[in-house]
Amino acid sequence: MKAFSYERASSTDAAVSAVAGRAGARFIAGGTNLLDLMKIQVETPEHLVDINRIPGLDRVEPTPDGGLRIGTLVRNSDLAADATVRQRYPVLARALLAGASAQLRNKATTGGNLLQRTRCYYFYDPSKPCNKRQPGSGCAAIGGFNRIHAVVGASDHCIAVHPSDMAVAMRALDALVETVQPGGARRVIPIADFHRLPGDAPQQDTALQPGEFIAAVTLPPPPPGVQLYRKVRDRASYAFALVSVAAIVDAQGGSIRGARLAFGGLAHKPWRVPDAESALAGQPGQQRAFDAAADALLQGARGQGHNDFKVPLTRRVLAGVLSEATRA
Ligand code: SF4
Repeated sequence: MKAFSYERASSTDAAVSAVAGRAGARFIAGGTNLLDLMKIQVETPEHLVDINRIPGLDRVEPTPDGGLRIGTLVRNSDLAADATVRQRYPVLARALLAGASAQLRNKATTGGNLLQRTRCYYFYDPSKPCNKRQPGSGCAAIGGFNRIHAVVGASDHCIAVHPSDMAVAMRALDALVETVQPGGARRVIPIADFHRLPGDAPQQDTALQPGEFIAAVTLPPPPPGVQLYRKVRDRASYAFALVSVAAIVDAQGGSIRGARLAFGGLAHKPWRVPDAESALAGQPGQQRAFDAAADALLQGARGQGHNDFKVPLTRRVLAGVLSEATRA
């Protein structure tokens, strides 16, 4: 690991100033991804600003409109166990519990979970070309082993997928990410715009500016309907999604009134297609409607060889959750 200096921030403004005022400085909270990347020198910050002791960032609080505000330092295990989350946002609790391991969930934070980096094998192997790690060097996954890679939204520069389960549920819930920019200005980023597609700049995972700080994530009141999270992976625990879906389906008498569907494992960001949801509105919960939704969801989908199976797998996962939701 490359040597770095360290300080502990006592307030959000102090943390933002500390990172803004020093080149090569980074925030650290749980460190569950950052420290791994530092050990292999994929990440080489010169200075770490520890935000773990900043008061007030570890709270889950109701909002005046009936939603929920989740501080950036709320640990994944605490969020999954929160009574309001379990009762009103079960899709989020289930997604959190499907992620990582119990030990990692005890350390990992809400803000850090949104910022975790892809698990593309080549990103973690400095001997291989990777445009995300070293812009302009190429992409070893294109033409390489790409079983876990994207089938939608990819580019000629990068075919990686975003690894978070939590973010997929938050995408279905239309979460808002509250940030503090260098200089102190606050802004709110809809989660739909928070993660980027790779395009020709795969090194940029999110819409955050350098030094911008995630303060909280706000969930609007939950929409009506059954909430489900289904994750297909290579082993039953401690594995990233090959395909996952966060589904919120409002159905009555076997007919679908409305649906929200966000997918993990398919793209560089949680994948949600409005036309797929529209294809289900007013339809009976039957295979023909499920197929129409899948057609819209997977328009333009293309495997890279080893991951071709993801396209038919996604169709089956979608049909499975819709069938379960309309039976409930
Ligand atoms: Fe790097 Fe993206 Fe290619 Fe993986 S898919 S090797 S992260 S550029």
